[in-house]
Amino acid sequence: MPDIAVYPGSFDPITNGHLDILQRALKIFDKIIVAVAKNPVKKTLFTTEERMEMIRISLQDHPQVAIDTFDGLLVNYAKQQNARAILRGMRAVTDFEYEFQLAMMNRRLEPEIETVFLMTGLRWVFLSSSILKEAAVHGGNIEGMVPEIVFHRLREKFGLE
Ligand code: ADP
Repeated sequence: MPDIAVYPGSFDPITNGHLDILQRALKIFDKIIVAVAKNPVKKTLFTTEERMEMIRISLQDHPQVAIDTFDGLLVNYAKQQNARAILRGMRAVTDFEYEFQLAMMNRRLEPEIETVFLMTGLRWVFLSSSILKEAAVHGGNIEGMVPEIVFHRLREKFGLE
């Protein structure tokens, strides 16, 4: 049985911080499923299809990575996919409280699936999709923080190209 991890998130949009976590996780797992949350309540800048397309293009050289969407309970989805673990990234201490609660809830719901946290590269500790959008909307230069496709899609979205 291959070691499969599910990497869930909004990815609105995917950043180099997400890619850093993925690259680290590829050294541990055989296959990683990037699972884009279809959360009807959370308002996103990009549609699910747009988010998936940017991930697909950013990860086209990684055959061990699959891209999918999910809704409903994450642990149910992970179980369906025969995943052994849920992968999450950790930035600074601010991530800890929320991630801790989430991991404990998921463990309670499905004790067979472990949550694995990887620490991001120092270059990305400050980077979140929301702060990135905040900078981009005001015309800030976000080059080098996101894959090229995301750079262009963000500029298009905000009418900068
Ligand atoms: P969510 O809405 O579930 O928080 P995100 O797309 O914001 O979805 O994040 C998905 C995962 O990626 C989370 O575990 C988050 O901590 C992690 N992540 C986000 N940005 C970074 C970053 N710069 N470095 C490392 N991990 C990150």
